[in-house]
Amino acid sequence: MSKATSIPRAPRKRPVRLRVLATSDIHLHIHPHDYYADRTLRSLGLARTATLIRRQRAQAPNVLLLDNGDFLQGTPVGDYIADNPGLLKEHPHPAIAAMNLLGHDAATLGNHEFNYGLDFLRQALAGAAFPLVSANLLGALGGKPLLPPFVILERSLTDDEGHRRCVHIGVTGFLPPQIMAWDSHLAGQVTTQDILAAAREVVPRMRARGADIVIALAHSGIGPAEHREGMENAAVPLAGVEGIDAIVAGHSHALFPSPAFEGHPGVDAGRGLIGGVPAVMPGFAGSHLGVIDLTLQHDGRRWRVTDSDSRLLCAEGLPPDEDLLRATAPAHQATLARIRQPVARTEVPLHSHFARIAPSAMLQLVADVQHDAVREALRGTAHEGLPVLSAIAPFRTGGRGGAGHFTDIPPGPLTLRDLGALYPYPNTICALLLTGAQLRDWLERAAGQFNRIEPGAPGQMLLDAGFPGHHFDVIHGLRWRIDLRQPPRFDHEGALANPGTRRIEGLEFAGRPLRDDMRFILATNSYRAGGGGHFPGCGPGAGVWRSAAPLREILAAHVRRQGTIAPAAEPFWSFAPLGGTRVLFDTGPGAAAHLDDLAHLHAEPAGEGPDGMVRFVLAL
Ligand code: MN
Ligand code: MG
Repeated sequence: MSKATSIPRAPRKRPVRLRVLATSDIHLHIHPHDYYADRTLRSLGLARTATLIRRQRAQAPNVLLLDNGDFLQGTPVGDYIADNPGLLKEHPHPAIAAMNLLGHDAATLGNHEFNYGLDFLRQALAGAAFPLVSANLLGALGGKPLLPPFVILERSLTDDEGHRRCVHIGVTGFLPPQIMAWDSHLAGQVTTQDILAAAREVVPRMRARGADIVIALAHSGIGPAEHREGMENAAVPLAGVEGIDAIVAGHSHALFPSPAFEGHPGVDAGRGLIGGVPAVMPGFAGSHLGVIDLTLQHDGRRWRVTDSDSRLLCAEGLPPDEDLLRATAPAHQATLARIRQPVARTEVPLHSHFARIAPSAMLQLVADVQHDAVREALRGTAHEGLPVLSAIAPFRTGGRGGAGHFTDIPPGPLTLRDLGALYPYPNTICALLLTGAQLRDWLERAAGQFNRIEPGAPGQMLLDAGFPGHHFDVIHGLRWRIDLRQPPRFDHEGALANPGTRRIEGLEFAGRPLRDDMRFILATNSYRAGGGGHFPGCGPGAGVWRSAAPLREILAAHVRRQGTIAPAAEPFWSFAPLGGTRVLFDTGPGAAAHLDDLAHLHAEPAGEGPDGMVRFVLAL
């Protein structure tokens, strides 16, 4: 081996500092607008992220901007362009136009790029002024792949002494192989490869072609540390592939680095490393910009990464970039006009005024949509034979939102904006495999929203004011009564408080008593399935299926298909009779018009409640 002799070393090149900026999962949130609620979003929108990008560029001499996929779908803007593909002959797709304007250096595809079909995708990508790559999206039957597996960007970067240095930056990309299942129309047109298998092939090829450094755009989440063939969230095993210098992760819309990943196997959440490789995952819809700073040192043969730092910058509240707003304004304006137009009709009012105390037509509609989506998705799977039930809670029922925080859609035309009021959250649909015992406790957990009622005593409030309405789940497909004389079995946090008591009685499925050992599929939403409200059988990773599209989109497609809807509130749950005990119930001022809904409770107005609410007296 060489000794430390007196041979003078050649003067070393000074280090080059490269700042890699990353966007991911923008989902056509360019203008910071919630198209379902029809109002400005403070925390999202690529136009806000663009302000971060401009500021970062001003601070660093060498900046690269990359996008990690899921840019073509996600707001009604995407549907508008997809329904009018002729627009692409005149102008680039707004998602592409935005990246052209921001000067993206390269991008990869996510799973949602395939939602509108391959022809549409090709047309949209044709407008890109930057290279797109994907290493595990292959052509079918030896056909030509849609995109090259990688690109080598030759960039003249400025070193610490101001000298220009030529650096070859290799960029490759990966998407979940599951696109073949999620978009079945792709069969015969493309195929996908396991992310790790593709990475092990492509990285050495990039090195052989002269890449000094290799950046992996992984449209894939931070999941298990062990590789499994075909895995969807492969960022951790991917980091173990020799030769990858930085990773942009995504797809699961999480934040990295962030405390959410503390203790996650293979991950250093504090330093922003996955398997020792600097990495970011910049959230969703432009909520954050990923920043990876790489220090490059020349070793006599090539540039190598000798140090790194990765972090996220939050876009919340930043002024949107005016140029970007202007460049994408036509699609935005056309979409606004569209969401304000009817997509269907409802023959019945859809309102939430009584959704916490009686079956509701509005909840029936959403429950049906969840049920149908789950039944369809599980067809041909091991769970096909199990009965599908559907759990749903009302979202807008006063609470912290006040007396105006109710949904009240009159009979007549139904707009996309109305559907946003009907279902205000971007949840997806989930399917859980549960036992009869778990469903019984599910309803007990929900029944905790009522105060304990003493029969015959006057002036008792029916609802426990500390219980949020969005935890009052009902399960469509079962029948039961609630005995309000009993104390709640669970507390507000979902912890078992009174193990000896039960409020749910007469619980039936298909006309027979529900047995604890029966097995069911329960359709619910991603928030609940992920552990929101601490319901039985829920938590991170729970469930046998999850929809790719948000529930709201599936709901919109459902009502469009139906044309005219008339959901009915069947009396599948009720209070056990308490000899006519009169209780008080406060709700929104619009409730008076719907009092017929509560005929079975002999509801009568009883003056004003607090904070603009109205009060009713009910007989149990
Ligand atoms: Mn996404
Ligand atoms: Mg995705």
